[in-house]
Amino acid sequence: MKIAILSRNPKLYSTRRLVEAAENREHEVRVLDVLRCYMNITSMRPQMHYKGERLEGFEAVIPRIGASVTFYGTAVLRQFEMMGTYPLNESVAITRSRDKLRSLQLLSRKGIGLPVTGFAHKPDDIQDLIKMVGGAPLVIKLLEGTQGIGVVLAETHKAAESVIEAFMGLKANILVQEFIKEAGGADLRCFVIGDKVVATMKRQGKEGEFRSNLHRGGTATVVRITPEERSTAVRAAQTMGLNVAGVDLLRSNHGPVVMEVNSSPGLEGIESSTGKDVAGAIIAFIEKSATLGKTRTRGRG
Ligand code: ADP
Ligand code: MG
Repeated sequence: MKIAILSRNPKLYSTRRLVEAAENREHEVRVLDVLRCYMNITSMRPQMHYKGERLEGFEAVIPRIGASVTFYGTAVLRQFEMMGTYPLNESVAITRSRDKLRSLQLLSRKGIGLPVTGFAHKPDDIQDLIKMVGGAPLVIKLLEGTQGIGVVLAETHKAAESVIEAFMGLKANILVQEFIKEAGGADLRCFVIGDKVVATMKRQGKEGEFRSNLHRGGTATVVRITPEERSTAVRAAQTMGLNVAGVDLLRSNHGPVVMEVNSSPGLEGIESSTGKDVAGAIIAFIEKSATLGKTRTRGRG
């Protein structure tokens, strides 16, 4: 099969592992810098160009689109979809998952466990907003933050009030969330491929840190998850329309709750903590699912 990987950096662990896994399974694989792909949007004849060359014949595309290039990256991916290339994750699903509020609304519609979350626009509504999520301590999040940046724990009512006011004053979009204290600064990263959780790790924030992100100094260990956690992770990925997803769960007193659903989950942490060949499982999934001209959306939406 001829497979494209959209990635800004071929040296990244995840990109290297996907190339290696594809080559091991005798595929022709090429890493494309998504920002160097440009396109011709002509009626019925969508084309993709790359550094002066026309790209053709890719049967599958693996998007590894960073948060900072979501807009351009999803447009390039959509063009591949229009050309009949099978996307590991569809552009619409990636766009959906990048917006935390939209994701939570979709998950809530499916009855998936979530931390109680509020969203408001006007400072006039702050008091009721705080009450809605059960009062302080509570978590305040920038809607488009990643890697733990833009996630704040307000321990007291006063702190919550002033942080929310400050963010609103800056016209930042935020959500306010019940603090799941019992999670103890840890979360579960469930790596979903298709309808299965193929690997799981527990991430523990460093001493005194409630955020478990590895980028914030958290550490990963192997963990066994319950059938309920497993089915919550798979349902969350399916609700977003993602074939491959990193679903982050917190263990709360009211069962597993979904933190977020990541559409380009990193491979380094999960492969090194579990010893599993996740890259190989991704390529195997593509082999099973991709047929040229059989993209599900053909660039719809
Ligand atoms: P990001 O996209 O920046 O990773 P997250 O929403 O995943 O933002 O939050 C980062 C981390 O902060 C989570 O992995 C979790 O450890 C912690 N966290 C976030 N929200 C809550 C919450 N409501 N209760 C307890 N911990 C939380
Ligand atoms: Mg996160």
